[in-house]
Amino acid sequence: MHTPEELTELFRATGRKVTAQRQCIFRALQRNDTHPSAESVYESVRAELQTISLKTVYQTLHELAELGELHTLDLGTGAVRFDPNVEEPHHHLVCRSCGKVRDLHATYEGLEVPPGAAQDFEVASAEVVFRGLCGECRTGGRRRRDQRTSPTGRARTTQESKYRQDNNRQHNKRREPCPS
Ligand SMILES: [Zn+2]
Ligand SMILES: [Zn+2]
Repeated sequence: MHTPEELTELFRATGRKVTAQRQCIFRALQRNDTHPSAESVYESVRAELQTISLKTVYQTLHELAELGELHTLDLGTGAVRFDPNVEEPHHHLVCRSCGKVRDLHATYEGLEVPPGAAQDFEVASAEVVFRGLCGECRTGGRRRRDQRTSPTGRARTTQESKYRQDNNRQHNKRREPCPS
């Protein structure tokens, strides 16, 4: 993903809207390796810009994806995740308990579609997703997990919500504040 300044240029050059809110979203995504959902980008930006709307966040994320600045990933964690690391092809480790997604840099030499199985399909790339339990969930996971259902009807563990909060807190500490 380009820098916030380059993204501002790119948005202008392609006739897209540039606002302080959008620039705040650009900054929230810089070197963000947590693979945030739109909701968690929203929570992170809202900590500094109370007036931001979830709709603005969705719109901006989709425009960034259109421009190839973000990859959208559906890893079965219940929400689409956004990955600003579009420069280096990589794979992912997904925690099936808290939904944490980590980059995995590895090459799988033998990874190929068996001859004949793809038929007319021309393979361009492949990504590997490993599912399991992250270190935190492995150590804390023996305690009974309290399942509850979110208003959207999807089950979310309290662990996942806690992870999202911790993640935002950690990421916010690292990034530059948005000018108000
Ligand atoms: Zn986990
Ligand atoms: Zn990634």
